[in-house]
Amino acid sequence: MDDSYCETTPSRAAEPEPAAGPPYAACVQCQEPTEYPESTKGITLCPVCEWREAERTACSG
Ligand SMILES: [Zn+2]
Repeated sequence: MDDSYCETTPSRAAEPEPAAGPPYAACVQCQEPTEYPESTKGITLCPVCEWREAERTACSG
């Protein structure tokens, strides 16, 4: 048995950011800041509205 391989990896709380930073485009539904940059064209949704839209789309049919 080799105990030298039993090293625990340190838990990291920091996660990589999807966008560089503000300004973010406003959500078309609730005006909350989205994860997308302001230069994003078309409909921008915040994570919450995006999730709801996905649920609605999944329920169609
Ligand atoms: Zn929203």
